Parts: sequence; structure tokens; C-alpha cells
Amino acid sequence: LDLIFNIDILLREKKKITISQIFNELITSFLIQCMAASRVIDGTTTLREGDIAVSTGRRSKVCFARSCQWAKSVDGHVYIPYKISPDYSEMDIKLIKKGMENIEKGTCVRFVPRTHQRDYIDIQAQSGCWSYLGARGGKQTVSLQNPHCVQVGVISHEFMHVLGFVHEQSRFDRDNYVTVMWPNIWRGKFKGNFEKFKTENLDLPYDFGSIMHFGKYAYSQDGEPTIVPKNNQRMKFGQTEHLSHIDKMKINKLYKCGKSSQVSTIC
Ligand SMILES: [Zn+2]
Repeated sequence: LDLIFNIDILLREKKKITISQIFNELITSFLIQCMAASRVIDGTTTLREGDIAVSTGRRSKVCFARSCQWAKSVDGHVYIPYKISPDYSEMDIKLIKKGMENIEKGTCVRFVPRTHQRDYIDIQAQSGCWSYLGARGGKQTVSLQNPHCVQVGVISHEFMHVLGFVHEQSRFDRDNYVTVMWPNIWRGKFKGNFEKFKTENLDLPYDFGSIMHFGKYAYSQDGEPTIVPKNNQRMKFGQTEHLSHIDKMKINKLYKCGKSSQVSTIC
């Protein structure tokens, strides 16, 4: 979608260019955008949308809802094995587990301590709060920096990324609901965090109440709003406390909770 978007811009600006020129320009602009928008975690991993880790190594894959689901067990649950770093205190661990319970309540997702499973999340207090998108295969880090990411809502938010969900305002149809105020984004540097993605919306309405929705002033340059709702200016959004009803529905629909167990596609 982003590429198509860029082609559109290029075609409007330059009428006479060859396909290979378009392609080269696309690659260049895409790389520049990515570099500007991303923070490098290590040699092969960067952050997209502020907190979604993207690996550029051999195992990298583009992953949107539906494409990188966790496997569903024959008992109808989706088990996500986890390991928690010993660096966390007992209190921290309680909060992390509370974040897990928030996801589990009313869904078929269950977090279980890892024993032997091949695919699992490894919760560590690295720098920042971030996660990979969906099941990546093998061990995948979820970073919950101590103390500022060890809050139940933030934890649940990162686990939603683990399940495969991007930010609500990244939905391909978000322009029907919100206006992104591009000039207000901090130093223009974080514009990449406001991109749209080719999302699978699961026939669910745009959800201002989602725990995955950025706040009105996310990445603001000088306190001016970066996201403004289209219809109701007073609409509240950007809550970081709990999953909304629709967030739960997203999980249940994507993982077909309550339906007879069929092993989901693992990529
Ligand atoms: Zn996020």
C-alpha cells in the first residue's frame, strides 16, 4: 500500500520517467523513510511505528494481522509460551502477568511459562517498550523497560503486537476517521510512525477506544495535536489502560476463538 501510495506521488510529479527510475526512487525513498522513522535496536533490528520491531535479517518477514498467527491448539486455545527475565522484581512480574490476564480474559489466548516449545516470547527489560509483530518463529523478544514500560496497559499493548495487531490509526481506512496533522509531528522525524498499512480489519469498526490507538498528541512537535478525529472533535482516544471490547473481538475473530480448532497458518 505504501509503495502504491508513493508511485502515485511520483507519477503526479514526473510525467516522463521509466519504470526502473520509478522503482529506484521508490526504493530510495522507502529506505530513507524507514531510516528516519526507525530506531535501531541492534545491527539487524529497527523499530517501526515507534514500538514494533522489524528485523532486517534473513528471517525478516512482512507481517500483518492474519499472516503471522500463533498456532492454535487442538483444545481451542492459542498458547503463547513465555520466559520472563530474572531482572524483574516480584512486583514487576505480577504486573506483567496482569497484562497477560487482560489479553486472556474473554479470549482463547493463554500465556504459559515456556517448557520446551520452539516458538516463545522472551520478556526482557531492554531499552524501551517494543515487540515484534505476530509469531516470528523461535524465540522473540518483548522489551519492557523498567520501570516505565512495566505498566499493565503498556504491557497489554505490546502483547497485542505479539498477537499480530498494528496500531489502530495505521488501518488502511483510517483517513475516513482521523486526520494526521503532519506538520505537527516532532521534527518530521517520526512521520513514519503514522504510516498506513495494508491491514486486515476483520470487518470490525474503527475503534477510537482501542488500546492500540495513539493519543491525540503522540510524537507532537510543540504540543499541537498530531491526530484529529474527523467527525467528533471531542472524541476521546489514546487510552493506555485496558483492551476495548473491540480489541477483544479482534483477537477472537483473528484466532477464531470458540470455533472448532483448526491449526492456523503459521508463517
Ligand atoms: Zn505499539
